Amino acid sequence: MKTKLSFCLLIPAFLLLPILLPAADKKAAARPGYADTPMLPDGKWRVHDSARPYPKVVDPGPIEKQKGFPFAPPKGAIVLFDGKDLSKWTGKGGKASWKVENGYFEVTRSGGINTKEKFKDFHLHIEWASPKEVKGTSQGRGNSGVFLQGAYEVQVLDSYQNPTYPDGQAASMYGQYPPEVNACRKPGDWQTYDITFRSARFGKDGKVKKPAVVTVVHNGITVHDKREYIGTSTHKKVGNYNRKVTEGPIGLQDHGNPVRFRNVWIKKL
Ligand code: MG
Repeated sequence: MKTKLSFCLLIPAFLLLPILLPAADKKAAARPGYADTPMLPDGKWRVHDSARPYPKVVDPGPIEKQKGFPFAPPKGAIVLFDGKDLSKWTGKGGKASWKVENGYFEVTRSGGINTKEKFKDFHLHIEWASPKEVKGTSQGRGNSGVFLQGAYEVQVLDSYQNPTYPDGQAASMYGQYPPEVNACRKPGDWQTYDITFRSARFGKDGKVKKPAVVTVVHNGITVHDKREYIGTSTHKKVGNYNRKVTEGPIGLQDHGNPVRFRNVWIKKL
């Protein structure tokens, strides 16, 4: 009788193991992210927290119907890309060598690029499109990024039906805040970011007096409204103000995915 009982107890565990393990794997794949990263200052979520709620998905409609289309640069704006060349940009070895064709430029695996000019407070308009052919998942799908002052990333990612950690999805303040909603268009469709940024201010003691503040409008929808950066952007760490950035270029990230950009202009504030 005793032998029979232990046999009964052992069998279910053996039977369950192959069922439980793939289920756990599936869950990790469905909700990518981390559970072992440092806590953000809000004390609620970790950096790249896989358990953080996904922002609601909203359909922004086609770009042609978006207010202001085709988004001509306003008076006093500096055109950073007019559809022809990357002469306002610099990259590895001093040259921005991303591909330029048909009025847009595209990330090639040659490193990130930066504007030659540095900026403090500004309004930036930039349009981007993730590859029409979907390849990869989570952070490996249509990843690039807009680096304000070369230091604060507004994430570029194909977030159309592509689960990832919310503070790393399209239009997130990377590693800090998810966008209010997911306003991503389909892969291959052109999308807009209108970013109003005010630089951090530092006191004579070198400490941050006023954090950097950003408003991000994605495809005509405000997804961050005058939100303060916790600090400069990092991966798997809490951002901080150790770098004391007060001006810097607009940087675009080479994350190995052929993301396209067009119609880039900036107006100093
Ligand atoms: Mg990125």
